[in-house]
Amino acid sequence: MAAQIKAVQKLNADETELKKFSELAHKWWDKNSEFKPLHEINPLRLDYIDGLVSLKDKRVLDVGCGGGILSESMYLKGADVTGIDLGEKALNVAKLHQLESGAKVHYQFISVEQLAIEQPASFDVVTCMEMLEHVPDPASIVAACAKLVKPGGSIFFSTINRNPKAYLFAVVAGEYILNLLPKGTHDYAKFIKPSELSGWARQVGLTVNGMCGMSYNPLTQHYWLGDDVSVNYLIHTKLD
Ligand code: SAH
Repeated sequence: MAAQIKAVQKLNADETELKKFSELAHKWWDKNSEFKPLHEINPLRLDYIDGLVSLKDKRVLDVGCGGGILSESMYLKGADVTGIDLGEKALNVAKLHQLESGAKVHYQFISVEQLAIEQPASFDVVTCMEMLEHVPDPASIVAACAKLVKPGGSIFFSTINRNPKAYLFAVVAGEYILNLLPKGTHDYAKFIKPSELSGWARQVGLTVNGMCGMSYNPLTQHYWLGDDVSVNYLIHTKLD
């Protein structure tokens, strides 16, 4: 395992980050667990993606798929989905869950950089959600995603903006006041401004087609998509 993790570190992954998700892995599909926010935002991001690319019959790659919340929902929209992650436990949970759900997602323990070498220009759509803020070199993930998508294809990223409001909402409120997420889930320094993410995308030949914010009202416990990208946001890029 240690040797494997060592290899993983060289592959643009943070052992501590992977461990955080690994410890919670058995809870991926518990909608009242630490993964509740991912379950609640899933219909919103799924609609956003499907509305822009129409997932039916598309070959889709879900990078950092975790237990498969988004992967399975894209499969249910009719896509042929591959989910990759460097968290072994999460992938095992994802594989077990589909025995129950009947979803047929292809799960693989592989880095996105390695898959880009093995299967360049192979996917119509690539999604990489809530993962860039957990890796040492997010620009390398963006570059690998750009290699994996077919010309004309779309890549969606979601992450957290870096500014005082995002710190207050995502870290202080989310982890310490509302307890939506375990303390220490997020490291403020790794949050990413939309301008930074757009810059990395453009550097590797992607066009930024659109962006939208994801907001949360703790009183009504309601999430919605809108123009406010100051905390959580999604970005739609295309390879022309
Ligand atoms: N994308 C999923 C899960 C987000 S949680 C969703 O939004 O529902 C972040 C996931 O990223 C975890 O499953 C973690 O194991 C994975 N991860 C972290 N670093 C990674 C890396 N370098 N390569 C692949 N997956 C990684």
